[in-house]
Amino acid sequence: MCMEPVIVIGAGLAGSEAAWQLARRGIPVVLREMKPQRMTPAHHTPYFGELVCSNSLRSDQLENAVGLLKEELRRCGSLILACADEHRVEAGGALAVDREGFSREVTERIRTHPLITVEEGEVSSIPEKGDAIVASGPLTSDALAGEIQRLVHADYLSFFDAAAPLVTFESLDMEHAWFASRYDKGTADYVNCALSEEEYAAFWEALTTARAAEVHGFEDQNVFEGCMPVEVMARRGRDTLRYGPLKPKGLRDPRTGLTPYAVVQLRKDNAQGSIYNLVGFQTHLAWPEQKRVFSMIPALKNAEFVRYGVMHRNTYLDSPRLLDRYYRLRGRENVMFAGQITGVEGYVESTASGFVAAVELARRLLGQRPVDFPQETALGALALYVSNETVGAFQPMNVNFGIIPPLDHRVKGKRNKNAELSRRALDILGTLEI
Ligand SMILES: Cc1cc2nc3c(=O)[nH]c(=O)nc-3n(C[C@H](O)[C@H](O)[C@H](O)COP(=O)(O)OP(=O)(O)OC[C@H]3O[C@@H](n4cnc5c(N)ncnc54)[C@H](O)[C@@H]3O)c2cc1C
Repeated sequence: MCMEPVIVIGAGLAGSEAAWQLARRGIPVVLREMKPQRMTPAHHTPYFGELVCSNSLRSDQLENAVGLLKEELRRCGSLILACADEHRVEAGGALAVDREGFSREVTERIRTHPLITVEEGEVSSIPEKGDAIVASGPLTSDALAGEIQRLVHADYLSFFDAAAPLVTFESLDMEHAWFASRYDKGTADYVNCALSEEEYAAFWEALTTARAAEVHGFEDQNVFEGCMPVEVMARRGRDTLRYGPLKPKGLRDPRTGLTPYAVVQLRKDNAQGSIYNLVGFQTHLAWPEQKRVFSMIPALKNAEFVRYGVMHRNTYLDSPRLLDRYYRLRGRENVMFAGQITGVEGYVESTASGFVAAVELARRLLGQRPVDFPQETALGALALYVSNETVGAFQPMNVNFGIIPPLDHRVKGKRNKNAELSRRALDILGTLEI
């Protein structure tokens, strides 16, 4: 069979995985990567699948959604997971890797595959004809970003990620919170988390002295002007937050009938109401600090953070308006996107989107039915989340159990419940023809 090669742009985690999955199904690939001729501000080596920051692919436990996603990828023959497992270093319950050994291995396997041709150099246009997967990452070069912007229209491409943390609804302590809208206007859409004067004082102290995330050298200070981090706002004065995002006006705590000293509002982040965001809490604090400080809000004492707040350069699409469940661009089905640029967040999630995009493309090219990864699997849940038109203000998202349908029966304890969700996912995955 003589086939046109698929063009894959970017040999990061998503692009390497996609190229490999296509090639192992007999489809020729041209993998185009600008390194080492041109480096992004966060990439430093000539290797493929470079880990730009931490060397951890996070939890490897099945009670954790990212642990499930990794196990699904492993069982489906993922290149990135195979290389990660081979170069694993001790890290408790997490999968951490020897950074260089891992990326060298990915590079070696890609470069020696007979169906993959690597072409070096910056790509500045997307092919009109033929199939292409764009996996150029959160730091896509300006020329290519401009081309993508033309293709999808300017309003659908973001260049910065300034997001507030997300928590699961089930982890909130509703003893310290209640549903209401300010002045009881409209429907009771917000979860209101009260703080007493003492609680506010301790929270303010911790927030204003917490450690910020590392600066990667490419943040544009101008970006932050319209979107001030909550900790920066807090430093302006002890009461500034009480006139801003923590304003208690128009809210009465039903337990006391009184207006609390301060109120943090949470807003629904998905249609099911399983995930909420902390309104006005864009933050640049280090992730462990976010957990420590935001857990001081009484209703968030045991909150499960499905995503921490971030502020950094991040080129990503408004995927719910643009992509289908196969990561294809609606109306230009020969173009697919994969990786962080689709609004999935994280190394493993980026790998997963490259995997799904490539497997579904390969099946189409081979005249086979799509797999249609079900929502019960983490691979399917992620693809369905980023392509879900009902998701409003889209923000990049880590995989989490909140985007997977609940069990049809009660299970006691969160760990047990998550373990059962994972068991169900892996059972379903086992029945799929991939
Ligand atoms: C600074 C930073 C730190 C991060 N830290 C973490 C972390 O610790 N843990 C985590 O899970 N996630 C982290 N992420 C988020 C995300 O998981 C990673 O960015 C991940 O590498 C995304 O994978 P990807 O394949 O989509 O993109 P990348 O891994 O970035 O790969 C994209 C590739 O495309 C190439 N490219 C770009 N433009 C062009 C072009 N025009 N032509 C040809 N090639 C091009 C790049 O050189 C690169 O090799 C971080 C992101 C950033 C920006």
